Amino acid sequence: MQKTDWNSLSDEAFRAEVRTFFETEFPEYLRFPAHHLRWAEVKDWYGTLFRKGWAAPAWPVEWGGMGLTPAKQLIFMEEQERHGVARTPDMGIVMLGPLLIQYGSMPLRQLFLPPTLRGDFIWCQGYSEPGAGSDLAALRTEAILEGDHYRINGSKIWTSYATDATHMFMLARTEKGVKKQDGISFLLVDMKSPGITVRPIRNIGGSTTFAEVFFDDVRTPADWLVGERNQGWSIAKSLLGFERLSIGSPRLAQAGLKRLDDVLAERGGAISAQYADRVARLRLDVADLASLYEKFAAAVRRGERLGADVSVLKVFATDLFQRLSELSIEVAGSAGGITGRTQFREEGSRVDVLSLFYNARPPTIYGGSNEIQRNIIAKSLLNLPMG
Ligand SMILES: Cc1cc2nc3c(=O)[nH]c(=O)nc-3n(C[C@H](O)[C@H](O)[C@H](O)COP(=O)(O)OP(=O)(O)OC[C@H]3O[C@@H](n4cnc5c(N)ncnc54)[C@H](O)[C@@H]3O)c2cc1C
Repeated sequence: MQKTDWNSLSDEAFRAEVRTFFETEFPEYLRFPAHHLRWAEVKDWYGTLFRKGWAAPAWPVEWGGMGLTPAKQLIFMEEQERHGVARTPDMGIVMLGPLLIQYGSMPLRQLFLPPTLRGDFIWCQGYSEPGAGSDLAALRTEAILEGDHYRINGSKIWTSYATDATHMFMLARTEKGVKKQDGISFLLVDMKSPGITVRPIRNIGGSTTFAEVFFDDVRTPADWLVGERNQGWSIAKSLLGFERLSIGSPRLAQAGLKRLDDVLAERGGAISAQYADRVARLRLDVADLASLYEKFAAAVRRGERLGADVSVLKVFATDLFQRLSELSIEVAGSAGGITGRTQFREEGSRVDVLSLFYNARPPTIYGGSNEIQRNIIAKSLLNLPMG
């Protein structure tokens, strides 16, 4: 069958095609989920995407992807967010796949890309450790080369989807006594390997999407190394710019504003009037965020690499989402502290305020915490002296 060249469509035609597909195919009950969905919940939807040939928008066509340009990828992502299409546990598709295609050997690509695309291999990202989050290069989990395998000892923390994952891509220390960034390698590991223990962590919202992962003399094949030995740091860093752009999309804040409007409507005119000033300011901030995002998105469309200034977008978008969630709680009054969809008054609609508040916490932490982004802004953009 002739494959469609999606990039040959105009942006408008492509957007319309994607929008129609999501509107007709995505299950209604999964739209705008209040928590990250587990693999069991989204497996069927992933199957629909796979059969359509849309499971991997950024992968090249020869590996079964859509081969989209960055501009078309953005449209795809924007339409997902607009319709509330839930994220699948997609680290294999979004993070590992592009890295394997760029840095992996041909045997590694052949071994891992097809089952990852089919959804047979689910990946988790093993970077953070106790004591090595913001200062990731301080990681201590060690991988010692012993003949045809690495022997791994140590632990990872905050590993999203570790309980669902069949495999992990990880950073491990393969050399000591050198600059800390220079002794790190990028390794692949089968989560069923003897010596791996996964202990789920329950978050404030009650879900257990992330976990601690312990390695006790775990063996992984020596040729499951991506790129050169001790080059893992630069491989892992190469994805950061695009990740910050996607976290900086205005969709989170727009969803927050929509929820705030719902709460204001439920509280009625007299109470809403008291907040008019603060709501107007937030509304203007959301419009400003959309313009700022468009500036970076346009740079991606022109094929430019994102610079340190994308940190401004990440901080602005995630702080704004939190401010919207906090005002929603305040306006909701006592109903703001109740878990789940709550009715504010008889005959009123049900609004879930608290989950918005919970969902607004993590984005200021992941993708590089906002304090770290502010350090980057101070150093690289404002040239301020470092303490
Ligand atoms: C929802 C969620 C999912 C995640 N999923 C994954 C995953 O799948 N895989 C993975 O590897 N990791 C994951 N993480 C971990 C995430 O990358 C780390 O939480 C993040 O890098 C911060 O590290 P930390 O938690 O160790 O905090 P720390 O680095 O200990 O920081 C604690 C606080 O100190 C501040 N701080 C630290 N250093 C400085 C400094 N130099 N200047 C100013 N302030 C500073 C930080 O901003 C933060 O507020 C996830 C996190 C979250 C919230």
